[in-house]
Amino acid sequence: MAKKGMLIVLSGPSGSGKGTIVSRLLQERDDTVLSISMTTRAPRPGEEDGVHYFFVSREEFENMKSLGAFLEYAEYNGNYYGTPESMVRTWLEEGKNVILEIEVQGAEKVMDFRSDLVSIFITIPSMEELERRLRGRATETEDKIRDRLATARRELQRAFRYDYVVVNDEVESAVARINTIIEAENMRFDRMDNEYIRGVLESC
Ligand code: 5GP
Repeated sequence: MAKKGMLIVLSGPSGSGKGTIVSRLLQERDDTVLSISMTTRAPRPGEEDGVHYFFVSREEFENMKSLGAFLEYAEYNGNYYGTPESMVRTWLEEGKNVILEIEVQGAEKVMDFRSDLVSIFITIPSMEELERRLRGRATETEDKIRDRLATARRELQRAFRYDYVVVNDEVESAVARINTIIEAENMRFDRMDNEYIRGVLESC
């Protein structure tokens, strides 16, 4: 039987650079894919349906929810976000690592019922640095920036629930750290194809 892929949950406050890290990781690893979430929020300029998200109405989302089609979902800033389960299951069966880039409430739900996942919290070197990055975007009002900082503080308080914390001081280093985590996790006894160990024991 083919080895199953790894479910990787990745969270981090807005401004932590998790989006950039994920794109870099996907470019480097052909064994890893990103789950595309469904959301009720409106697309931002440049975002495409089926690429960045599946953009749906509240009714469509609620219909999917009642069919039990989500691995997890959460309400965040007044919008629903959810991970459709079927594609994730297929990819894992095919042996691909699947990244869920999701916020902390949804992440904690998945952690509660799947013991085989790997969870990574991406963070920034300091709150000052986060504030600098959010202000650097120059696309948001003062109120929005304050809201994002308050949300970031709340999210950072949940970092202890994750298996790993990666500080994004520099994108290349953060990506290298995540690659190290994936390699180490692949060497866990219960993830390995134990044919090798069996072979050694049989030859003793
Ligand atoms: P944004 O609106 O900025 O794209 O995303 C807002 C937050 O929702 C981010 O923290 C993002 O990681 C999270 N998010 C995106 N997709 C999902 C999902 O399917 N489930 C959950 N729980 N959070 C998601």
